[in-house]
Amino acid sequence: MHATISTDICIIGAGPVGLFAVFEAGLLKLRCHVVDALPQVGGQLSEIYPKKPIYDIPGYPEVLAGDLVQNLMRQIEPFHPTFTLGERVESFEKLEDGSFVLTTTDGTEIRCKAIAIAGGLGSFEPRKPAIEELEKYEGGKGVYYMVRDPETFRDQRIVIAGGGDSALDWTIFLANVAKEVTLVHRGTTFRGAADSAEKVKALHEAGKVNLVLSSNVTHVHGQEQLEAVTITANDGSTNTITVDSFIPLFGLTPKLGPIGEWGLELEDDAVKVNTLDYSTSVPGVYAIGDINTYPGKLKLILCGFHEAALMAQGAYKYMFPDKKYVLKYTTVNGVPTL
Ligand code: FAD
Repeated sequence: MHATISTDICIIGAGPVGLFAVFEAGLLKLRCHVVDALPQVGGQLSEIYPKKPIYDIPGYPEVLAGDLVQNLMRQIEPFHPTFTLGERVESFEKLEDGSFVLTTTDGTEIRCKAIAIAGGLGSFEPRKPAIEELEKYEGGKGVYYMVRDPETFRDQRIVIAGGGDSALDWTIFLANVAKEVTLVHRGTTFRGAADSAEKVKALHEAGKVNLVLSSNVTHVHGQEQLEAVTITANDGSTNTITVDSFIPLFGLTPKLGPIGEWGLELEDDAVKVNTLDYSTSVPGVYAIGDINTYPGKLKLILCGFHEAALMAQGAYKYMFPDKKYVLKYTTVNGVPTL
């Protein structure tokens, strides 16, 4: 028999924005049920970069992504959210009374008065470089498309490929963990933050990072385990170096998944919203965090938190059109429990 859950707001996605939405809804005494396709909470922070430091969360000069997720979970504890993890929301139906029924891949049914889609990038896949036999070394045999635990690379010789933020951030971080770090980038300038690019150059000048520009990793070698990679420069010259791990970081291919088929107005694979309350084209359905789009959208955790606050106010008005809500500070009232 399949489970049926009743709640005020169903939050689709347990990334940082979905989790913080529980807090904002909780302040308005709204109950939340959170569903995520992944088996753990935290979205991209847990799945892609749990040990990467984040520097742009107000009040935290530096916080590891995994620690931020833990803190968010502590922060929402007083509101007793419930979770369905490891199940993807597949379909949604709006009932005549304005409420909704959502159904997951495993048949769990969630009945709710409003929906907050915090689906991030949806189901995402790393972009893999076109290198013959790369797959042979996936699954812990030397090729990693994301860094889940930096300790995997302790005292290793590693090659990172890419020119964006992930490649730069991990080069900086792993320079203190791995025995030898080589960053290979096909261009001469980086797409990632200028400050991070400066740090990588400084590490290179200090002899802590090998920087190979205008080049690509073109071949991988080894028996069962990865043993070496060949780097080919834009002028055609090649160099084969011994490595324990190769980490190509070329970003993610976002796939909106079933959310794209629910009749919501979309733009470039993201859900269009009204920035008044982050409502979508379907009344009672809101979209917050990386999943939404509007003029000036920034895919940052900070912006998602703001969107969650306004979404909760909007959802409250949708559920109780006749009630007037008066904003109260948590510093005055503390955190009310449900
Ligand atoms: P996500 O974290 O993507 O979570 C969405 C969740 O929704 C996922 O867990 C997914 O499984 C789930 N989901 C999707 N569809 C469904 C469905 N149909 N049913 C059930 N579940 C579903 N931002 C910063 O502000 N500062 C940084 O320093 C920073 N560094 C970054 C470094 C890297 C390497 C990357 C990749 C991103 C970084 N970001 C950073 C961006 C930040 O991670 C995102 O802005 C943030 O994760 C968005 O949060 P979210 O909750 O909207 O979505």
